[in-house]
Amino acid sequence: MKYADIIIDISHERLDKTFEYIVPTELESQVAEGVQVVIPFGQGNRAITGYVVGLHDQPGFDVTKLKPIARVVKDSIAIESQLISLAAFLKRNYGSTMNQALKTVIPIKKKQNEKLKKLISLAMPVEEARVELNELMTNKRHAVGKERLLKELMDVDVLEWDLVTKKLEVPTANIRDLEKKGIIKIESVRTYRNPHMNVEQNKKHITLNDEQEAAAETIKADIDTGRRKTYLIHGVTGSGKTEVYMDVMEHVIEMGQQVIVLIPEIALTYQTVMRFYTRFGDKVSILNSRMSPGERFDQFERAKNGEISIMVGPRSALFTPFANLGLVIIDEEHETSYKSEVIPRYHARETAVYRASLAGATVILGSATPSLEAYSRAQAGEYHLITLHNRAMGQDMAQCEIVDLRAELKSGNRSMLSRRLQELMADRLQKKQQIMLFLNRRGLMGFVSCRACGHVLKCPHCDVALHLHKNGMMKCHYCGFTTPAAKTCPSCGSKYIGSFKAGTQRLEEIVKELFPAARVLRMDADTTSGKNGHEEILSKFAAHEADVLIGTQMIVKGHDFANVTLVGIIAADISLNESDYHSGERTFQLLTQAVGRAGRGTEPGIAVIQTYQPENYAVVTSASQDYGTFYEQEFAYRRLLGYPPCSHILGIQVSCEKQKDAVAQADILAELIRKTDDNIIIMGPEDAYIGKLKDVYRRVIYIKANEYDRLVNIKDKIDSFLLTQKQYRNTTTWFDFDPINTL
Ligand code: ADP
Ligand code: ZN
Ligand code: ZN
Repeated sequence: MKYADIIIDISHERLDKTFEYIVPTELESQVAEGVQVVIPFGQGNRAITGYVVGLHDQPGFDVTKLKPIARVVKDSIAIESQLISLAAFLKRNYGSTMNQALKTVIPIKKKQNEKLKKLISLAMPVEEARVELNELMTNKRHAVGKERLLKELMDVDVLEWDLVTKKLEVPTANIRDLEKKGIIKIESVRTYRNPHMNVEQNKKHITLNDEQEAAAETIKADIDTGRRKTYLIHGVTGSGKTEVYMDVMEHVIEMGQQVIVLIPEIALTYQTVMRFYTRFGDKVSILNSRMSPGERFDQFERAKNGEISIMVGPRSALFTPFANLGLVIIDEEHETSYKSEVIPRYHARETAVYRASLAGATVILGSATPSLEAYSRAQAGEYHLITLHNRAMGQDMAQCEIVDLRAELKSGNRSMLSRRLQELMADRLQKKQQIMLFLNRRGLMGFVSCRACGHVLKCPHCDVALHLHKNGMMKCHYCGFTTPAAKTCPSCGSKYIGSFKAGTQRLEEIVKELFPAARVLRMDADTTSGKNGHEEILSKFAAHEADVLIGTQMIVKGHDFANVTLVGIIAADISLNESDYHSGERTFQLLTQAVGRAGRGTEPGIAVIQTYQPENYAVVTSASQDYGTFYEQEFAYRRLLGYPPCSHILGIQVSCEKQKDAVAQADILAELIRKTDDNIIIMGPEDAYIGKLKDVYRRVIYIKANEYDRLVNIKDKIDSFLLTQKQYRNTTTWFDFDPINTL
């Protein structure tokens, strides 16, 4: 006999409120997670509908008190069913409770009393307000709060209530008094309004070039004949992938279906959003991660009610409850932000493909630098590969030069800028063309390399860079291998060995020293902390208010600056030394994207790649923009060392405030894994990358297997073990499948 957990109201805040029912034998084959059922409810056995969210063999209550499910609702494949199946998929494949998975998929209904944002502004023209202010100040014992508020409002038009009361310390009574006198007004607004809609919808749009046309036609023809597949569009930077997406989107919308477009948060800029608005008008809605759960709920309601047919947003937009989803697009498919860093740690790519299979929808993945995962699936025929070889307007790809920084050092140049790069910068500045300087900051911390020969100290067991610790030891974060920090290079004997330190700020100083007349903008985590800081810098640069833009990875994501003819990559190989197996792939992606910024307009572009490892395959292949060769080498490396996509890894983290208990529990789990599957490769238990965070100790175990399901099996075994375990209840265990960051 089987028993089902059923929820009745999925918009209820407490999704964990379930009711248990018996699954009658004749319904067993039809009842699964997500299925909608009719059940007798309450005293009078009222027939109501609910959704199955869990199934088990043992009853959780007294069986004599349980009622059986009346029937399965057949014809309505409600959107809710799809979302619950999706939650079950997340739970199974990424590890979490059903409740955590449901909360990921279904937004919580907004609380009734959600606070509205109050805005204060002048209720009269500024001149009149000034008169009022003067009058107020003639009274010697006037309230300074009122004075402060009025002065501020004359400068800025609108102020938030909280800012006025907290920062400006204006007493509430002062505000109310000014309001009563009709000098200011207070309005309550929803914290989120849909981004501006007063855009002219522009039906007349770009004509696709032949390559774009062929790509769009292939997909549309498949859709028309009822073939729903997953496509990978591999298109060089500037090939016009977005235009292809929009062409297919239009087709799908004409068929009365809806579209989800996933875009990495960092690329979700005004420019990107406007492209969709101008093409599709108010059919479009935008999600972003700064929205509150209530705002997200509102947007999802609009989608459910058919008010919109396109949702553009980051990872979580994937769960938009469109009733008739026809297409999911994942732009910049390789971006790591598509993997969730909260439990369940799902990957949007796999989850999108699953959702599409439930809805009968098409999936388009796009990238100039596809992930190894996606490209290997395309190679295996699981995804349909479409290649765009050329830039949209036929512009040439940037020409690339590699500068060997070891040779620079030898010839006495210790500057961050090579002689060749300096020479080209001077030339561009003189021609009034723009320059981007990219400092790859990933992995900047801690790895140890030789400035004379470029040698990087690596773990002999895992082939990832060792990290330098404060105690003078170097350590591998996968297997725990530890060795004293080297004083001389083991490869060439040079004493120029140490950890690499350089920053965008330093680079800015150097550029200003060398080119005092150049106008320089810097974009990094420090300069973009303001709300629109990052948009502001980009628009300034786009308007040619600066000659040089210096920045971290933020500057390489998909921006289109026609006047940039030189891209300098300051230290290309830094990211090769991150202590995980993705470092080659990330380096290739960053370099290719950076090189792709040059020469997008009419003038041809040059990219200078400065590196200590000019022979490294990621550097060489990105310089020649040769994805195919990069893929082959990277794939061979992954196969050799058994890393994804050639195998799968499950990271298990155990944390506890008591170190002793975290250690003991991790050991117990490792033993359980060994007993469950004695063939599986286990690494650890070891201290996590950050072994102690906020006084909580963290241990990790990595296990590796070729078959994903073997890892799922282990996760399930651990889950059921944890349910019955009496000891170490104070520890927390969670899972990360094919982790992107070191746990
Ligand atoms: P990708 O996403 O592949 O980098 P985009 O779709 O952003 O490329 O296109 C790059 C630029 O080329 C954009 O400014 C776009 O408007 C323009 N573009 C794309 N396709 C065409 C076309 N067929 N004709 C003219 N301009 C195009
Ligand atoms: Zn050396
Ligand atoms: Zn190791």
